[in-house]
Amino acid sequence: MANSRHVVIAGAGPVGCTTALMLAQADIKVTLLEAESELLLDMRASTFHPPSLDMLEKLGVTPALISQGLITPQFQYRDRLDGLIAEFDLAAISDHTNHPYRLQAEQYKLTRIIADMLPDYPHVDFQYNARATDLKQNDSSVTVHYETPDGRQSVTADYFLACDGSNGFARKILNIDFPGFTFPELFLVVSTTDDINEAVPDMCPVAYIMDPEEWVAVIRAPEMWRFMIPTKPDMSDEEILDLDFLESRIQGIAPSDKKYTISHSTLYPVNQRVAETYRKGRVLLAGDSAHLNNPLGGMGMNGGLHDGVNAAEKLIQILNHGASEDLLDLYDRQRRPIAVEYVQAQSIRNKKNLEEKDPAVRKQRQDEIRATLDDPQKSLELMMQVSMINSINKSKAIQ
Ligand SMILES: Cc1cc2nc3c(=O)[nH]c(=O)nc-3n(C[C@H](O)[C@H](O)[C@H](O)COP(=O)(O)OP(=O)(O)OC[C@H]3O[C@@H](n4cnc5c(N)ncnc54)[C@H](O)[C@@H]3O)c2cc1C
Repeated sequence: MANSRHVVIAGAGPVGCTTALMLAQADIKVTLLEAESELLLDMRASTFHPPSLDMLEKLGVTPALISQGLITPQFQYRDRLDGLIAEFDLAAISDHTNHPYRLQAEQYKLTRIIADMLPDYPHVDFQYNARATDLKQNDSSVTVHYETPDGRQSVTADYFLACDGSNGFARKILNIDFPGFTFPELFLVVSTTDDINEAVPDMCPVAYIMDPEEWVAVIRAPEMWRFMIPTKPDMSDEEILDLDFLESRIQGIAPSDKKYTISHSTLYPVNQRVAETYRKGRVLLAGDSAHLNNPLGGMGMNGGLHDGVNAAEKLIQILNHGASEDLLDLYDRQRRPIAVEYVQAQSIRNKKNLEEKDPAVRKQRQDEIRATLDDPQKSLELMMQVSMINSINKSKAIQ
């Protein structure tokens, strides 16, 4: 039998934690199952876009996140040979958001802030070492089975939200297809605690550097500069993660007489995939379990947070205000096309622009970026796009 106004969430990543907090604040009982024994020290995402900060502000999270992050209003497009192409300032979108900047803060900071807040809500049962493995549903409830060190357990609730990341168990059990593709190359993230501005004084904390051989996404997090670059498919992981090789990558971006301190390096496989549906009965998919995209533009976690908030709004309407379950289909209609038409399209375009090999097309692209900077209307439109405000507005307009 279903518990009264109860939602089970699998996955205490950024999306699961945020959604759990939002439901808890609406007085809904939440069981949050996390497979690992503690929160992951996950440094993948380090950019929070303005609408995400606006949403997290309503939950009381943004001030703590800002205190651990780096406010970054400007971002640049650069060319490895020619240097700066254009610098944009998100101050231009201040009529559309309370946070007209990107906040650079690693995703683990968000999950930790929220995990510290959840004990304030006694109706939240947050379990570590709890790996969801199976689910069954009927017209009135969903039962989730999960493995714990003490054996197999189960919990029955009104709805289940799968926020369990790219390997999503619910998607597989429910036979929800996940079409798309995997890039042949791995992406390397290499970080240094040294100050890159000593070598390249005008490098902004967020910069996208075009290059036909090795494009770069530069992200400055509070404690380090991070560089994301593609790798060659014929290199082994050991060759790529070799310290001399890593050093040579940073030297190629910011040449210096000094040797760089390498503080962190990781290789990531990169996918572009969207689940064929975000809803099956009483189960909703959100975040990486619903969609994967390349990290250029920082839209994976942010898009996932926007899913989670949208899904939680619908569940609150249904559970607290007696709204129709048709709202769950609206969740799918509002969020899935955004992943397909906006996030997938934009992230693939971002990669293509950075790695363009044809010099004439590269020059044309650079001219377009400069022309956009010179035209206030076009410039505003670009910033509404890259900050994901357009995607939220588009999603809200779907009925
Ligand atoms: C190099 C790189 C850089 C990136 N940078 C950005 C960026 O700047 N901005 C951005 O928006 N996005 C970025 N992303 C994407 C971002 O990291 C992901 O989109 C984000 O982590 C998704 O959050 P999530 O909560 O959906 O899933 P995850 O963060 O994957 O969390 C899933 C959680 O579920 C748990 N879990 C898994 N299976 C189960 C189970 N069966 N039962 C219970 N728990 C389970 C896991 O242990 C984990 O804690 C980047 C990705 C990469 C690879």
